[in-house]
Amino acid sequence: MSTTATSPTLASLADQLRGELVLPGEANYDEARRVWNGMFDRRPAAIARAQGAVDVVAVVDNAREAGLELAVRGGGHSSAGYSTVDGGIVLDLSRMRGVRVDPGAQVAHAQAGALWGDVDRETQAHGLAVPGGQISHTGIAGLTLGGGIGWLSRKHGLTIDNVLSVDLVTADGRLVRASATEHPDLFWGLRGGSGNFGVVVSFEYRLHEVGPLVLGGPILYGLDDAAAALRNARDVMADAPDDVSLWLVLTHVSSALPVPEELHGTPVLAVVPFCTDLERGPDLLEPLTSFGSPLGSFHGPIPYAVLQSALDGVDPHGHRYWERGDYLAELPDDAIDALVDGARTVSSPRSEILLFPMGGAVARVPSEATAFGDRSAPWAVWIASQWTDPAEDDLHRDWTRGFSATLAPWTTGGVYVNAIGGDVTEGRKAAAYGGPAKLEQLRELKREWDPENLFHLNHNVAP
Ligand code: FAD
Repeated sequence: MSTTATSPTLASLADQLRGELVLPGEANYDEARRVWNGMFDRRPAAIARAQGAVDVVAVVDNAREAGLELAVRGGGHSSAGYSTVDGGIVLDLSRMRGVRVDPGAQVAHAQAGALWGDVDRETQAHGLAVPGGQISHTGIAGLTLGGGIGWLSRKHGLTIDNVLSVDLVTADGRLVRASATEHPDLFWGLRGGSGNFGVVVSFEYRLHEVGPLVLGGPILYGLDDAAAALRNARDVMADAPDDVSLWLVLTHVSSALPVPEELHGTPVLAVVPFCTDLERGPDLLEPLTSFGSPLGSFHGPIPYAVLQSALDGVDPHGHRYWERGDYLAELPDDAIDALVDGARTVSSPRSEILLFPMGGAVARVPSEATAFGDRSAPWAVWIASQWTDPAEDDLHRDWTRGFSATLAPWTTGGVYVNAIGGDVTEGRKAAAYGGPAKLEQLRELKREWDPENLFHLNHNVAP
């Protein structure tokens, strides 16, 4: 046993939990402290694996009273490493993954430790879904609290636009429900304000009829054809209906993908058109699916849940990641050329440059309706650098920074809070919260709900 294990706070906390308290020196400590991004190799004083809201209250109370730093972990995918901490307590929700669907009411209740794969699995059994993340091992909690952008967003909005209520434990250890009618100010802040206001124990989501079959899957172009395919995608999306969504990915074909082996390792642009309407979809997507001379097309009807997990192996746990996202005000030819140049100079074949259209239902929700920063940008870019050797950290971080700087002429200055990435600055955080007015509104809420800033391991709004 380490000395930490004998600290009175942790010994008493262990007795209060229905779940488990994992301490340094215990056999499962190294497994329990691990997060998705291998860059963050931290050593908490304890990892509390909560099993229910009462455990969450106990951890919050003990951390507050003992003055221990508290990191809250849903799916563990924070790109800035906020869901782990040296010397503090990690509140790990991974034992709270229950999802209950009421198909008649088209509503799902999901515990905050659920992953998107859990939610998609339970909701798709009823032909229903909520807009959510596109990798099934991502957590619903961090993603939802930041906004949530997915395949269904142009049609049904951000994840937060489909949240009906949130149950959370506040900094003073109360269990509170926030919704349009209960603590509506707090409900506003929880939709885009990240983990600043409490530990969510469950979300209630509005569901939509989706699938099971949808149209999706990539069409792969060689880099010499990438600029033309990007220009085509831009022109198609300029007046595309909300039913049409799209992801554009400049990358090397991963061997984790179910495509012919001879394509593995090839630098490509993957154009991934998406539509839930199997009847009208082929016509709506035709300007994208019939374009040019791709290296291969893997587009067609696919179960929504399969599409949602098709890329899981591309971003595995434990690799090293450095990310940065920005919104683009426009996508002129010069910007497209800069993106393709990025694909040619990229420092790691595992890295991806992702580009996706916003708009549709995302942009129709008034900005002031939620704490989400910026709904007006037509495009978002997300640079996701990935490698495995720690000796290459500087190389790939520098490339990410250098490449993102080349896109500066077209960025709006705004950023999706979940895409701030590894370089967190006060300016980027303020931009993610939509500028001074929203930031001040969030500060007021923070002063009311967490005046001591117990929840500060997040894109923090200082009280
Ligand atoms: P965690 O690291 O567990 O949590 C992140 C932060 O959220 C925590 O530090 C904490 O501040 C807060 N938090 C977590 N749980 C709680 C809780 N229960 N109560 C209060 N606060 C909490 N985003 C999209 O919008 N769409 C995508 O398709 C998408 N795909 C992604 C794919 C991958 C592989 C990765 C790594 C990220 C992706 N993201 C996407 C970004 C994603 O939204 C963020 O990384 C998000 O933080 C992940 O949530 P998590 O619960 O897994 O992370």
